[in-house]
Amino acid sequence: MISLDGKVAIITGSGRGIGRATAVILSRLGARVLINDVDEEPARETEALVGKEGGQAVVVVGSIARADIAQALVQMALARFGRLDILVNNAGITADAMLHRLTDEQYDRVMDVVLRGTFYCMRAAAAYFREVFREDQRRGERIHRKIVNVSSIAGIHGAVGNANYAAAKAGVIGLTKAAARELAPFLVNVNAVAPGFIETRLTAARGSEAPPGLGLPPAVRERILQQMPLGRPGYPEDVAYAIAFLASPQADFITGQVLQIDGGLDFINPVSGV
Ligand code: NAD
Repeated sequence: MISLDGKVAIITGSGRGIGRATAVILSRLGARVLINDVDEEPARETEALVGKEGGQAVVVVGSIARADIAQALVQMALARFGRLDILVNNAGITADAMLHRLTDEQYDRVMDVVLRGTFYCMRAAAAYFREVFREDQRRGERIHRKIVNVSSIAGIHGAVGNANYAAAKAGVIGLTKAAARELAPFLVNVNAVAPGFIETRLTAARGSEAPPGLGLPPAVRERILQQMPLGRPGYPEDVAYAIAFLASPQADFITGQVLQIDGGLDFINPVSGV
């Protein structure tokens, strides 16, 4: 049985979607969770969900695209819970446009959150993980710590209208693989999940369900749904359970891997409309 009893986890972007499901599931498995989001209200809702089930959570509001916020997440986990075992880099955004129309601002916005933000959080956690490893060593203990990054099938296979996002998510895979090698001597396992089409506001119908600037054109959404090999879209919990496994002691011998969680839809056929 997977158990995260006694562990402390940071989950970025856990006010909604995959991050929220991950915070709730890690908490159910015994972890105390630090909830982060750039939006306070949904972060507080996740905190309430965790609390309702008897879990312990703390909220840090702020953008992980800022190095000081990334640092604050680690400091808060240590100040409130006295340790940090798991970092889930989940926060992400899209700003879709065909390549010839992609603006500098759209490119930078996605890069800043997805790639730079993941880097900032990994850097902050790595400094602590290296330090605490030495203390473990002095006590003769072997304790694994975990980083799970949320990439995307777009970062592996590409996706039309998604060049900025695909590049950033491919970068997250590079960060994952480099850090897995670098941190292995410190018993830090670094892996990534690469979700396919998961029902959240990022894949909601543009113009009706999705907030402005996010979501997919309804026709594109329908076409993808018709291609789903397992006959359904993914849900946040589908990704959260895989993250929980990779964050658990049962995955202590797995590092540097990218797990696609896509219901068989590993390649989204060319779509237009963005
Ligand atoms: P979502 O929009 O439902 O949740 C993402 C959360 O991240 C939001 O609450 C948002 O406010 C927060 N966030 C955004 N920018 C932030 C920042 N700078 N700092 C802190 N928090 C920030 O989206 P989701 O679908 O749950 O996405 C979660 C992750 O999964 C993202 O990295 C996304 O790219 C990735 N992903 C999603 C899908 C999918 O189909 N939904 C597929 C592949 C990958």
